[in-house]
Amino acid sequence: MQFHDLAAQYQALKAEIDSGMAEVLAKGQFILGPQVAELEEKLAQDVGRKYCVSCANGTDALVLTLMLWGVGPGDAVFVPDFTYFATAGCASTVGAEVIPVDIRTDTFNICPDALEAMIEQVEKEGKYRPRVVIPVDLFGQPAEYERIEAIAKKHGMLVLEDGAQGYGGQIGTKNACAFGDAATTSFFPAKPLGCYGDGGAIFVDHADEDALLRSLRANGRGVEDKYDNQRIGMNSRLDTLQAAILLPKLRALREYEIAALNASADKYTQALSGVVQTPTVLSGYVSSWAQYSVLLEDRQQRDRVQQELKAQGIPTMVYYPRGIHQQTAYAHRHFPDEWYQGTLAACSRVLALPMHPYLTDEDISRVSEALKQAVQKA
Ligand SMILES: *Cc1c(COP(=O)(O)O)cnc(C)c1O
Repeated sequence: MQFHDLAAQYQALKAEIDSGMAEVLAKGQFILGPQVAELEEKLAQDVGRKYCVSCANGTDALVLTLMLWGVGPGDAVFVPDFTYFATAGCASTVGAEVIPVDIRTDTFNICPDALEAMIEQVEKEGKYRPRVVIPVDLFGQPAEYERIEAIAKKHGMLVLEDGAQGYGGQIGTKNACAFGDAATTSFFPAKPLGCYGDGGAIFVDHADEDALLRSLRANGRGVEDKYDNQRIGMNSRLDTLQAAILLPKLRALREYEIAALNASADKYTQALSGVVQTPTVLSGYVSSWAQYSVLLEDRQQRDRVQQELKAQGIPTMVYYPRGIHQQTAYAHRHFPDEWYQGTLAACSRVLALPMHPYLTDEDISRVSEALKQAVQKA
């Protein structure tokens, strides 16, 4: 059994993916070929945002957005403590101060109350200016944007949605990557919308932001004279081959993959309720299930259950074993553990089960039964 079955997806989309790649190879426009522009247009339309600028990966997408806003030294950037490192690292890359914020252990997303308390503390200390909050749509579920946007507005801050794991999610009828002042996503192969290598994208609302991002992703080049570089940027583009691969994958995601993921999640939840703590999806929210993560009682039980499942050939993962505040790269910052009780609980108890759009009912029953027995034993 596969944790993410990319081969099954390739088999389902093989004809379209192969012909798309063959067309790119035949024409030879490997950098910013027509498929890149086509994909950007389709993504913007799909999300419901005016502009989409693709780039080399989800980490660059975050860095480019902070560069767009001129975020740097003296600015405080608030991020959930429980996330992939890039959410925090991007702020350090531009010289800003990272402030990790505790999460809700039920949704795994940033806790709005903790966010507001942390912003007020930074304001009171007066050393850094609160500039940006980067909520993450962790494991596929959008963060609580209504409350987060209100908090940001009150404190004069910008919101950057890190939708790397969230593409395809929704709150009401609004799609992931349409929240905040800008949003980013990643096309790393295992994400809900993944390519066959690295890729990423930024979503914005205004023509001037779109133009500036296109300059920033091309080493700050000028619009009229491309050999007059007007600012410092980076080299960060999406390959034409990856765009050709993403076009049929985007169609499949919307046509049936999101529905299949949600059907599988419902089956897991039904089979596992009362056995482990199943993931909470807030009312009106739709997850794109980048991960289906359950909570065991404690670290000992989690580790024993993971070993037992492994022995039966069932792959599971621990996302994430430690919080941002515990990373060696931030060891000099001294963030006390007591501020991050939500993270610490999640890190020691979380376990992600096999999840992808091509999971069969037999797979789900097998995993659920094995998990039940492992919990009884552990
Ligand atoms: C994967 C991921 C990123 C970074 O994306 P890459 O394409 O791997 O650089 C950023 N944030 C989150 C939450 C992610 O899961």
